[in-house]
Amino acid sequence: MQIIKLQTSPYDANAYLVDRHTLVDAGMDAHAIISQLEKIIQRGELETIILTHCHYDHSGGAAQVAEAFGAKIAIHRDDAPLLNNPRGSASELFGERAPSIIPDILLSGGETFGELEVIHTPGHTPGGICLYSARAKVLFSGDTVFPDGSFGRTDLAGGNTQQLIESIKKLTLLDVSIMYPGHEDIVREDANEQIKLSLMMASQYS
Ligand SMILES: [Zn+2]
Ligand SMILES: [Zn+2]
Repeated sequence: MQIIKLQTSPYDANAYLVDRHTLVDAGMDAHAIISQLEKIIQRGELETIILTHCHYDHSGGAAQVAEAFGAKIAIHRDDAPLLNNPRGSASELFGERAPSIIPDILLSGGETFGELEVIHTPGHTPGGICLYSARAKVLFSGDTVFPDGSFGRTDLAGGNTQQLIESIKKLTLLDVSIMYPGHEDIVREDANEQIKLSLMMASQYS
């Protein structure tokens, strides 16, 4: 699996190009993402933009990137309604209008894109997802789990700490070596241990 981390600004979410055909999150600066992608892929190569959740820092650039490359946008069905809402998408925190995306694909969990499987991990938002490759032992953890025992906040619209703990528990059952979080740095080894630490920290916090 070929994974390229695109450059985004410090307040923006991470965006990852997977095997040239899938973009995991789009960040909020469409121009920056498009200009980097143009150096790597042709129009038509990018098939799907999978949003790990509805928040503006992950979804704000998605519509323009989809348009530029002829890609489809996928998001979990429980987060889709929040995309059109300044509070639900947290765009108001960034002083921006809601992304107003009409998704092409509504996910429920269990779908696959190439070797990535969709895992529904509610808690940070109702329709948050992670993407997992069992073969590569790779997890895209969105804003559910971050490095060093951190985890997604649950005080925004639709957040739920108990659900988040259950979701992190689900992730501890996977075999993960490398973790690509929605913010901060890539965890390049022993990601299982980091996820367990996040579960411990989140359980104490509740
Ligand atoms: Zn985020
Ligand atoms: Zn978020």
